[in-house]
Amino acid sequence: MEQKLQGIVLNGHGGFYQVLLDNGVCQTCHLRGKLRLNDYDGVWAGDRVWISIADDGGGMIEGIFPRRNFLLRPRIANVDQIVAVVAINNPPPDLLLIDKLLVAAEYQNISPLICINKCDLDKKNLTESIIGVYQTTGYPICVVSAVRGENIDGLLSLLRGKVSLLAGCSGVGKSSLINALLPEADLEVGGVSQRLQRGRHTTRYVSILQLAGGGLIADTPGFSLLDLPQKLEPEQLPRVYPEFQRCDSCRFDGCSHDKEPDCAVKKAVEQVTIDAERCRRYLKILNELRDREVKY
Ligand code: GDP
Ligand code: ZN
Repeated sequence: MEQKLQGIVLNGHGGFYQVLLDNGVCQTCHLRGKLRLNDYDGVWAGDRVWISIADDGGGMIEGIFPRRNFLLRPRIANVDQIVAVVAINNPPPDLLLIDKLLVAAEYQNISPLICINKCDLDKKNLTESIIGVYQTTGYPICVVSAVRGENIDGLLSLLRGKVSLLAGCSGVGKSSLINALLPEADLEVGGVSQRLQRGRHTTRYVSILQLAGGGLIADTPGFSLLDLPQKLEPEQLPRVYPEFQRCDSCRFDGCSHDKEPDCAVKKAVEQVTIDAERCRRYLKILNELRDREVKY
């Protein structure tokens, strides 16, 4: 008798797919030939699928469930959470990049989590000031040190039960964090495998890894997710700032919180309930989006 089961695709290459079944078993699968022709453009990491298992134990992906969301670069479906990673130093914190990441996550309906890494390098209470900036967003914030293993348990608990993806510029410690969360992953840090102390030079592909405690985390080598979404229009930008949404309404419907009079966001900045620098960076992103519109 053929069994029919559901699961999530962890990775796929060379015609083989690893599927984590809802019963916790990992099953290697092929793809039913006719599936290659449907609108899905293939089966991606993160896809929810149903599979059949033949009497000889071979698995076959029979169908893909509709995607809740998907990212093109890297190709991954059904991401629950984007972890925006920022380092205290080396490289110094770039909050404009973090804001762009938060915008991209909100726009795609993916919950953001802010992760402040390298807290062992904090000599000027920078951690406190970054927390201060983002407190009004309401996003969860987690302070860790990947190399010291500080608060990795705290991060693990925020990843539990979700598919998460680490984003942030090169050098902030994304690979180091995966290694801290999952020591057997042995990802290259600064291009070098920690265990083998040399580069692996292997072809890399998106792969979802299982964390102890039940969460899943995507290893997306070479992607930092720092581009603003292609289809994001300037008018949509205020809607992806949760602290702006909580303000009393502005005089004009669809206020861009730029030069309009009686702007509630501007008032909140004066009353210091919204961070002035975050608002200044918002205007910078807004102008970037407006410039982009003029060009195309
Ligand atoms: P990625 O480019 O974001 O994947 O960053 P990597 O994981 O490759 O780390 C870049 C560098 O930062 C490496 O030299 C790491 O050893 C270092 N690093 C990562 N996490 C920490 C940390 O918590 N504290 C300190 N001091 N260094 C770290
Ligand atoms: Zn306004």
